[in-house]
Amino acid sequence: MAKARPDLTQRMTTPWWAFGLAVAGGALLGGHPDPVVRVLGGAAAAWGAGLLVARVRKHRAVMTQVLNVLPVPEKDEDLLRTLPRAWSALKEENLLLRTRAEAEDQIRRQILTHLNTGVVLLDQDQTIRLYNPSAQTILGTSSSLGIGDPSVMAFREPESLRNLDQACRGAAMEWTLKRNPRSLRVRAIPFEAPLQASAHPWVLVTLDDITRQEALETTRQKFIANASHELKTPVTGIRIAVENLQEGALVLPEGETSLRIILRAVQRMTMLLEDISELSRIETGALRLEPRPLRLGAFVHDSLENTRPQALAANVSVDLDLAPGLEELAFQADPLRLVQLLDNLLSNAIKFSPSGSTVTVKVNREGPWLAWSVADHGPGISEKDAERIFERFYRAPSVRGIPGTGLGLAIVKHLAVLMRGEVDLHTELGKGSTFIFRLPAAETMG
Ligand code: ADP
Repeated sequence: MAKARPDLTQRMTTPWWAFGLAVAGGALLGGHPDPVVRVLGGAAAAWGAGLLVARVRKHRAVMTQVLNVLPVPEKDEDLLRTLPRAWSALKEENLLLRTRAEAEDQIRRQILTHLNTGVVLLDQDQTIRLYNPSAQTILGTSSSLGIGDPSVMAFREPESLRNLDQACRGAAMEWTLKRNPRSLRVRAIPFEAPLQASAHPWVLVTLDDITRQEALETTRQKFIANASHELKTPVTGIRIAVENLQEGALVLPEGETSLRIILRAVQRMTMLLEDISELSRIETGALRLEPRPLRLGAFVHDSLENTRPQALAANVSVDLDLAPGLEELAFQADPLRLVQLLDNLLSNAIKFSPSGSTVTVKVNREGPWLAWSVADHGPGISEKDAERIFERFYRAPSVRGIPGTGLGLAIVKHLAVLMRGEVDLHTELGKGSTFIFRLPAAETMG
């Protein structure tokens, strides 16, 4: 097929008008007074006419052949005449498109070569189809990349193999890979490759060296952990001194107001320091979970007791809705940390609830999860705030007058991750909020 095309083009665009010229020349010479020239002229004209007729016939035959295979409805004479020119134009356009495609390919290659992010492209069989120099540098000498090699040549760790398998089934994955002394962030993005009729997608794997970022993050976390720890002692000293002054020492009435202000500020500082050091203990990995077998009913009733004084003070009632049959359910969890997580959600729900309203705590089986939800009839959270409330120190502008550190939900999120669970939020402005914490049931069942 590739060979037939130039031949066909040549036939369609052949200069058969040259034979016409021979006929015309021959005919002119046919009127010459010299009989020899006349005879030669006549012969040339006959020869030219013969060839011309043969060439035209051949040309028409080729054109008809081409017309037969062309998907055009009207295969008339006009088309037959214009086809050679159209064919040439098509050839030129083809060439132009090819040149353009090659130039674009060149640009893509340059981009890939100069990219700091490593890129490895895997096809549906997890075979390496493309990679850039950064991928080889980031993966290090323990992985040798080659076009046509299986992905296992680049990623041998069980976690990577599992995640790539998932990606080949269509799920976008992200994980951290330790390649001493480097830490790598790996992302596997599945996509449907054009012109590939396969049930499995291709996977684009990107690699970023995050060693420096991780070192900076560790330094930051250690600094916060140390600073909050060091600040706790002097703050406690101030609080005790102020309380002593309030209780026993002779203080002028004007001084009492100042003492109250100092005490409130110190209490807030204590709260902040406790939340900060708790958060940094989770972040630095200093906090280790200590799971043990628990009974759901007893555990929930006990944990609700912690927030009873706050609920009483706020005139908010707390209802417990335990799905039938769950009272005696045995599960595994670190009771201290699970209570801490639920306390944070429940005390927020009470804090933001109007007086006289009800907060409902529900526990349910939800597929592979044990789902704990805390629902209130508070102000709800706007969409914009909802995107940020799990960040450290973020507080919705509308709650600035209500005490808080902005760290409670950050702690909740970190604890949830530590317990391999997830936190979800359903909220409607003016109606209330429901926070749901899902604990993986398979891991919790004793
Ligand atoms: P804090 O409660 O100390 O301000 P959190 O981290 O616990 O900090 O919560 C962050 C923010 O999320 C709160 O300041 C508030 O804006 C919003 N929020 C959390 N829980 C609720 C709730 N139940 N109802 C309305 N807003 C809430």
